[in-house]
Amino acid sequence: MLLTITTKRYPATDLGYLLHKHPAKVQTVELAAGCAHIFYPEATDHCCTAALLLDIDPIRLVRGGNGGHDFALEQYVNDRPYVASSFLSNAIAHTFATAMNGRCKDKPHLVDEAMPFEINLSVLPVKGGETVLRQLFEPLGYEVNVQAFLLDAQFPEWGQSHYFKVTLRHTLPLKIVLSQLYVLIPVCDNDKHYFIGEHEVEKLIEKGKGWLDVHPAKELITRRYLKHIAPLAKEALGRIMKEEGSLLEEKPVKDKDKVRLHDVRLQAVRDLLLELKVSTVADLGCGEGKLLRLLMEKPVFSKLLGMDVSYHALEIAKEKLKIDRLPEAQRSKLELIHGSLTYRDKRLSGFDAAVLVEVIEHLDIPRLQTLEKVVFEYAQPQHVIITTVNAAYNVMYEKLSNGSFRHSDHRFEWTRAEFEAWASQVGAQFGYEVFFRPLGEVVDNLGGPSQLALFKR
Ligand code: SAH
Repeated sequence: MLLTITTKRYPATDLGYLLHKHPAKVQTVELAAGCAHIFYPEATDHCCTAALLLDIDPIRLVRGGNGGHDFALEQYVNDRPYVASSFLSNAIAHTFATAMNGRCKDKPHLVDEAMPFEINLSVLPVKGGETVLRQLFEPLGYEVNVQAFLLDAQFPEWGQSHYFKVTLRHTLPLKIVLSQLYVLIPVCDNDKHYFIGEHEVEKLIEKGKGWLDVHPAKELITRRYLKHIAPLAKEALGRIMKEEGSLLEEKPVKDKDKVRLHDVRLQAVRDLLLELKVSTVADLGCGEGKLLRLLMEKPVFSKLLGMDVSYHALEIAKEKLKIDRLPEAQRSKLELIHGSLTYRDKRLSGFDAAVLVEVIEHLDIPRLQTLEKVVFEYAQPQHVIITTVNAAYNVMYEKLSNGSFRHSDHRFEWTRAEFEAWASQVGAQFGYEVFFRPLGEVVDNLGGPSQLALFKR
């Protein structure tokens, strides 16, 4: 199994300082399951490649108790020596620990410098294939090149294998590249060899710092990294999610009122979409798909897309919308996708309208700028409808009189003036005219419990 890391940032041999491995030497590190050899096939000022060759010993694998299968022969004959797996992660952690921890004795200024890197993985097994591979690396900004292989060239009808030759390119500090490889290689493979315990949660949180919390596939990554051990994955997700997004739907403040208010909101949005005579709608941050269900009832909507950062919410949506049981004509107009409003996404283009019902307040304010670009500059629908709670109205709720938010995952709650200032600025910047209306029963001086902005291009 071979991993190479190449840079052309001048002088490229600085890579040797960063990795704490001298380009003129071959070094060998003993690991529990074999050896890692580190060497430089090329080391000039213009181009430098560090290679990590992992030489796994299948006999040691079995002796070390890593076989773990009942079928005896499989313990000796398996793909582990030949593919990138958690053994490679382990090797990265052992051989490049200093670099991964962001230390560089001789040239400390290099640690945080974003450098162009090309990473090659000779064989990477990916459960879920190329789609999953792209889902893992592309949101982080990697350019991903993949070469797939047939299971057997003599029998093309057997189809593709789940092994890939992969090239990744990105400009990032090396310590981040190494941390991302460390986490994502075993996630691709989904077949961890070592015992998963509490310390794995710590490792995931430590190595995922700064990127995992905003990754649209963070749930998939966490579940696979922790090998589907539900309580651990739940604990890790809970801690990661503190940063962004939420699995949970807004909890009612006063059950009856809140349920009614949410229905009012959703109906108002549907009526407005009907009024605008749009036929294709993207529901961004669709949650459990309540709005989609309302829209499905109206045949004028010919194409509906639901997108959410929470995989869990999408699974509930899929269930509630009974997607598997819908007649083909209905089913073909509806699509649910996993994604984040903080990443540019081609799949969001080409809709008459985009809708964000009670979503913006779930994002940290600094991330709103990205959301604005994703929705208004890249997706560019004809109409955008955004709703959010009205903070001034909170005094009407007994439980919120202490100034707390309506939902624990809300990052902010805006008054009408604040929402209007934001929306007007966004409209002006991206060429949309903006109209406002209250949602729910209006109280003098306070406005409605919720508020809506309609943007027209
Ligand atoms: N629009 C739905 C759900 C509102 S709750 C409804 O009205 O019923 C907010 C939703 O926004 C949650 O489902 C949450 O997962 C989603 N969300 C939060 N951050 C997001 C992001 N960055 N990208 C996409 N969805 C996000």
